[in-house]
Amino acid sequence: MNQLFTKRRIGAITLFTLFCIGLFTFYIFLKTNVEEIPLDNSPKYEIVGSSVEGRKIEAYTFGNGETQLLFVGGIHGGYEWNSVLLAHKVIDYLKINSEIIPENINVTIIPSANPDGIFKITQKEGLFTAMDMPESEDTVQGRFNANEVDLNRNFDCKWQPESTWRNKVVSAGTSPFSEPEAQAIRDFVLENNPQAVIFWHSQANTVYASECENGVLPETLDIMNAYAKASGYKSVDSFDAYEVTGDAEGWLASINIPAITVELKTHESIDWTQNLAGINALFEYYNSN
Ligand SMILES: [Zn+2]
Repeated sequence: MNQLFTKRRIGAITLFTLFCIGLFTFYIFLKTNVEEIPLDNSPKYEIVGSSVEGRKIEAYTFGNGETQLLFVGGIHGGYEWNSVLLAHKVIDYLKINSEIIPENINVTIIPSANPDGIFKITQKEGLFTAMDMPESEDTVQGRFNANEVDLNRNFDCKWQPESTWRNKVVSAGTSPFSEPEAQAIRDFVLENNPQAVIFWHSQANTVYASECENGVLPETLDIMNAYAKASGYKSVDSFDAYEVTGDAEGWLASINIPAITVELKTHESIDWTQNLAGINALFEYYNSN
């Protein structure tokens, strides 16, 4: 009797163990397979160009509307690395909150327009965090691409081979769009014809309008004011601290595409709530205009 009881007990324990193993295997199967199925709101991913040193320039597009808003981070690379982190934060946020994008809009984010400039400072491929940044080291070299060109002087608006950044002379490349990173942005814009382009920089705590030869577009003023009001950044409709030639925003103005420059407060913070409010203000503007 006792022996039979023990046998039954062993049988039950074996069955239970097998059941648990089965359940666990099923769980692992589901976990590995279900995660491979893309969610409906996962972005369209494209490689839109590559840098001088062959690093990918990537674009993520959310939403299916006709009106495209293009956001670009990191044109000044490792000197303004926080603009790249902000861009990635927006991508991560839209992956789970894509319903904030109005139906008539699609949003493309190019998070890192100067990946060689980022690499100069992080010495790390791919994604990085604030922890990867050297603490006191000078990050100015990270502003330029691997040809030592300031990419935001390499666009076709009043282009000159040498330009200025504050009181420094900087290389603007050998011709307009001589640099592959600037070509990538140009080609994406010409192919997709975005309604507006927003560049994230740091650190002037300001939203700037843009112009080339024909003054500021009225729509540029509208979106500069909308973003500035919502975010709390200052707004400046004409940058005149020093002469800038060949900037990306000026080139966009020259082909009638409104463009603004959003300068974060510092070189470290991403000012998340402020920028989310700014982005939402643009959604609202283009949803009703
Ligand atoms: Zn900048």
